[in-house]
Amino acid sequence: MITTDICIVGAGPVGLFAVFEAGLLKMRCHVIDALPIVGGQLAEIYPKKPIYDIPGFPSILAGDLVDNLMKQIEPFHPTFTLGERVEHLHKQEDGSFVVETSEGTEVACKVVVIAGGLGSFEPRKPAIDNLETFEGKGVNYMVRDPETFRNKRVVIAGGGDSALDWTIFLAGVAEDLTLVHRGTTFRGAPESAQKVVSMAEEGHIKLLLKSNVTNVHGNGKLNAVTVLVDNDTPHEIETDYFIPLFGLVPKLGPIENWGLELDKSAIAVNTFDYSTNVPGVYAIGDINTYPGKLKLILCGFHEAALMAQSAYNIIYPDKKFVLKYTTVNGIQEL
Ligand code: FAD
Repeated sequence: MITTDICIVGAGPVGLFAVFEAGLLKMRCHVIDALPIVGGQLAEIYPKKPIYDIPGFPSILAGDLVDNLMKQIEPFHPTFTLGERVEHLHKQEDGSFVVETSEGTEVACKVVVIAGGLGSFEPRKPAIDNLETFEGKGVNYMVRDPETFRNKRVVIAGGGDSALDWTIFLAGVAEDLTLVHRGTTFRGAPESAQKVVSMAEEGHIKLLLKSNVTNVHGNGKLNAVTVLVDNDTPHEIETDYFIPLFGLVPKLGPIENWGLELDKSAIAVNTFDYSTNVPGVYAIGDINTYPGKLKLILCGFHEAALMAQSAYNIIYPDKKFVLKYTTVNGIQEL
């Protein structure tokens, strides 16, 4: 059991900045995200795009903003559980909470801050009949730990950035790697596509274009996939892992069942402090709604600051909140 003051659900920009605002008030945070990386939409959807409306930055790449946020929260030593989806919120008799993830990780905390954005990103699964039978038994929709694939046979499917990036990375880890792509051109970055084509020409990987994985086989564990090559010749490839990387779709998911007041798939909050209808649970960033709500990063940052003041009263009921400027008070490590 991990014990902390605040458990933050979602490591997007707003969840990360909430760690900073909490840290200024000496509240420790544990952050959980369903993705194996931090940064939410910025890291998953548009890491290389410039953002122009972050105060003080005329332009900043989304990926760099995430790096800066991680640097900014370093003094407060937050802890992270990544690649696990928060499934359950258990309210304890004393008003505190135990947050439980898909992998059974439990976090005991006094305050829960939901910074879940559009919901947790879930893999877009290809339509292959018995695919789900092999989930966790050779079929993986994400690369959580590349070492899982060391010296193994791997088939990746997809034509976007994830498929290209992981093909390039895992080529040096796996014993044998095949990339299957239904088109002849890639949606991902042109330089990554060029690299993958060169690696195939040099024999480091196999590249099957105009091809689809149509079936998966095995006895309890995956041992082969059928690939329809050129959309007409079925071809069996023996493999230990099949990684379909067709993008992620956000779903509100389990948050729907936590007894929170919802308004069109968003969590209704009180704009005084961004609290929900459940005492001790706050919702900030894209996941919340209120009259005039704007789904912008800077609005989420403001919400994090007000949430932290209110959470302070729960974590330190005997102390009075006093606003202190960082210019005067500096940053006190936690
Ligand atoms: P997110 O970034 O969505 O992060 C939420 C995180 O919570 C995700 O990582 C998700 O996996 C996790 N999560 C959700 N549910 C669970 C669960 N049950 N368990 C574990 N983890 C969970 N905004 C601007 O201000 N300026 C811009 O220029 C701009 N450009 C954009 C361009 C694009 C293409 C897109 C898609 C968005 C843009 N936005 C922009 C919007 C901005 O990205 C969002 O407002 C911002 O990402 C919201 O941050 P967040 O932390 O609330 O949520």
